[in-house]
Amino acid sequence: MHEPSHHYAQIEWSENGQPLSRTYGDVYFSTASGLEEAHHVFLQHNALAARWADLGDSERFTIGETGFGTGLNFLAAWALWQKTAPQSAQLHFFSVEKCPLRLQDLRRALVLWPQLQPLSQLLLDNYPALLVPGAHRLQFGQVSLTLVIGEASEALRGLCLQQEQRDRQVDAWFLDGFAPAKNPEMWTPSLFASIATLSRPGATFATFTCARPVRHGLRDAGFIWRKVPGFARKREMLCGALHRASRSQTTATPWYLPPEMPKWPQTAAVIGAGISGATVARALAERGVRVRVFEQGATPGSGGSGNGQGILYAKLSPKPSPNGDFNLHALLFAQRYYRNRCAQVVHLNGLLQLAQTDRERRLQQQVAETLAKHNNQTLAHAVTPAEASALAGVNLAVSGLYFPQAGWLEPQKVCAALLQHDNIELYCDTSIEHLEQCNSGWCLYTVEKTFKANAVILCGARDICRFPQSAPLPLNPIRGQVSVAKATATSRQLKVALCSEGYITPEHRGSQSFGASFKLRETAINLRDSEHRVNLETLAALLPQLSKDFSSQALSGRAALRAATPDYLPVAGPVPNWTSLDTTYAGLRKNRKQLIQQTAQYQRNLYVMGGLGSRGFTYAPLAAEVLTAWLLGETLPVNARLARALHPARFAIRNLGKNRAPITV
Ligand code: SAM
Repeated sequence: MHEPSHHYAQIEWSENGQPLSRTYGDVYFSTASGLEEAHHVFLQHNALAARWADLGDSERFTIGETGFGTGLNFLAAWALWQKTAPQSAQLHFFSVEKCPLRLQDLRRALVLWPQLQPLSQLLLDNYPALLVPGAHRLQFGQVSLTLVIGEASEALRGLCLQQEQRDRQVDAWFLDGFAPAKNPEMWTPSLFASIATLSRPGATFATFTCARPVRHGLRDAGFIWRKVPGFARKREMLCGALHRASRSQTTATPWYLPPEMPKWPQTAAVIGAGISGATVARALAERGVRVRVFEQGATPGSGGSGNGQGILYAKLSPKPSPNGDFNLHALLFAQRYYRNRCAQVVHLNGLLQLAQTDRERRLQQQVAETLAKHNNQTLAHAVTPAEASALAGVNLAVSGLYFPQAGWLEPQKVCAALLQHDNIELYCDTSIEHLEQCNSGWCLYTVEKTFKANAVILCGARDICRFPQSAPLPLNPIRGQVSVAKATATSRQLKVALCSEGYITPEHRGSQSFGASFKLRETAINLRDSEHRVNLETLAALLPQLSKDFSSQALSGRAALRAATPDYLPVAGPVPNWTSLDTTYAGLRKNRKQLIQQTAQYQRNLYVMGGLGSRGFTYAPLAAEVLTAWLLGETLPVNARLARALHPARFAIRNLGKNRAPITV
């Protein structure tokens, strides 16, 4: 986890409730009227109303902003979007912010704009529970906000994948840092270079300032500008457009970039209706893609996502790392995601992660110290054994971390609920036996039938490797057995989900689940007494009396397979042509740091999401957003480093770097 590299906004409030930055000694918006200023400077001078009225169905428009501040510009743009854009069109708004406002300050600032209710309430309800550096995706139906916490030029560079077509997404820019005289560090040549790299040809910009470094910076990056009357007391402002695309510097071997930008698919086929398939199908359907989901079992969640109760938890790490960062961002996203889509089958009323070993205690202490530096209790905080016992309603002898917005959910029902969407057609008892590329995309064959789709997404845990197209992915099976007991008078007292070596959920409809065993590379799914015993022993270390009570029962349960990758991060993204990847980047065998500028071939319109291990419900929502961004050519919801850490080709590239045998199909 990143320590706060930033300071939260230090705000002074004027008598009439206007925010002023103490750090920069500048106002967030015009004291005459922030909202009218947003309209005049950013909306009007990017000609948004007219451009949005001209958008076609399902078309996408992307705005980039420097300086999110109170979110006023975002809210003003969203309100205008609702009035002018076609219903099925999509607005992507990303904004970089070095000193985010704390929730209480944001709430206080937005009180100024009653006319922006209920949009501002939605923003407040979805504001990230912990503002760590990195990208935070907030989804509001057809409107999405990617709030990137970090220094502007660094944060924008972090969004660049560095293949020009891919990066060129932005249609309009709101350049809104504090005044260059008060904040010269922000308006740098490097910032303008990233802005140009991220701009579509003809992208427009508007900014309240006419300062010379801004004019020169924009000109050098390839923008033409003109001065126009500013708002209120400001005589002039700048607006303009990109007329010459600058070439971005490629600094990394682009193995992760398919050579062609994807074409927007009308139809997609998702194979597997577990939590991967359900979240992917839902993400595509919400963007207007018609999705068929094929499930070989009788219901959604027939495999690893089929338990009656499961927990939503993440393993936070005290130091920044791909695994720790993905866990954190995935948990933050998942908490909001389920609340907004299927609140009736998720129970996010608290989870305790308990430390049973010295190592775990040390780790948790470090995590808690980092969280304390953020001065944030919303995501998690440290608890003593006495505090943990009070929260849990049962006696606990160990300390832990308490996550007030995590908890437990009903996995199978969650999958089913997510698949309830007008653009989703679910085919159960339907096993896709093989796939073939055909003219319009892909043909999918069952024993009796053929289906067609523009794009295919493989989502079925270990089954992903049944298809030769994706067989080289290193997805290892893990057998896991959960035990289910009848709740007792004592066990009913448990109020929140507990996890440590194992987990236990609160009572639901008379039963309680605990487990689960973890058997790497075992593929049988029979129910075993021996694994019930292991689950009882694991539980005994936390709640000895409960374990004793349950051991006298005839336990029921469920065993299923999950799949995990060697680095325990999911795969989410496009599927390479494995042979082309091997030959294009063969030079990495001799020097793994070699810069090889060519791109390899990818299997057109074939994507994969899997390897979620035992954190499927935490990982899937964000991983599905990443996959969807690849598939539809959208701004990624994570930075480029994390997108590469989840990329399906990463193992093949690591193999090359270690000069191991080539992957064969
Ligand atoms: N657009 C905002 C709104 O709608 O409320 C107002 C933006 S305010 C004028 C400028 C913002 O830029 C502040 O929130 C400030 O923290 C942010 N900022 C200043 N320097 C920055 C930098 N180097 N990188 C990223 N953000 C920065």
